[in-house]
Amino acid sequence: MELLREMVITDGKVYDNNVLKVDSFLNHQIDAGLMMKMAESFYEYFKKEKITKILTIEASGIAPAIMVANLFKVPMVFAKKSKPSTLKNNDVYTAEVHSYTKNITNTIVVSEKFINKDDKVLIVDDFLANGQATLGLMEIVEKAGAKTVGVGILVEKSFQDGRKLLDERNVNVCSLCRIASLENNEVKFNISDDEK
Ligand code: 5GP
Repeated sequence: MELLREMVITDGKVYDNNVLKVDSFLNHQIDAGLMMKMAESFYEYFKKEKITKILTIEASGIAPAIMVANLFKVPMVFAKKSKPSTLKNNDVYTAEVHSYTKNITNTIVVSEKFINKDDKVLIVDDFLANGQATLGLMEIVEKAGAKTVGVGILVEKSFQDGRKLLDERNVNVCSLCRIASLENNEVKFNISDDEK
C-alpha cells in the first residue's frame, strides 16, 4: 500500500537495524484516516470469506482491528496479555507468546465466551516479525474449534521468520507493506512490492 510505505519512509525511525518505530501514526499517536484506508484494503482482500470475527492482541492491534470489524460488521475480540482476576482458568483459551521487541513471554488469554467453533476468524495485527503473536492467536482459534481464514498485517518484516512460518501453514496472509531489510537503519521494501 503506497500511502503506508510513504508514511514509513517519512515518519518511521529504525533502531538497531531491526526495529521500526512508527509511534507518530500507528503505535502511539494514530492516524485514523490512514488506519481506515488500511482497514478498507483488508476488507477488499478478504470480503469473499464469510468472516464472523476479527481477532487481535492488545494493545497495538486494537486500532486497526476495530476498523476492520466495523467494515465486516462483526465483533472484534482482542487477546489480553494477562488474565483478569474476573476470569477463571477453565473459562479461557490461552497461548504462550514471546515478544521479540520486549524479550518477554506472555500467556495471552481470550474468554471462551467470545470465540466458538462456528467462527471464521480474521486475525489482524500491526506488525509481523517472528510470527509469535499471530501463531499464538491461531492456537487460540484452534483451541476454540474455530477456523483462521486469514491474517491481515500492516507492516511485515519479511527478513524475520513470521511470514515463512505462516506460508508453511498455508495461511492466507495480506501484508500492506513488506520490508525486506532494515540494515544500516534504512528501510528497504520488498522488490515485488516496489513493482506494484
Ligand atoms: P512477532 O510476534 O511477529 O515476532 O512480533 C509481532 C509483535 O511484535 C507485534 O504485535 C508488534 O507489536 C511487535 N513488533 C515486532 N517488530 C516490531 C517493530 O519493528 N516495530 C514495532 N513497533 N513493533 C514490532
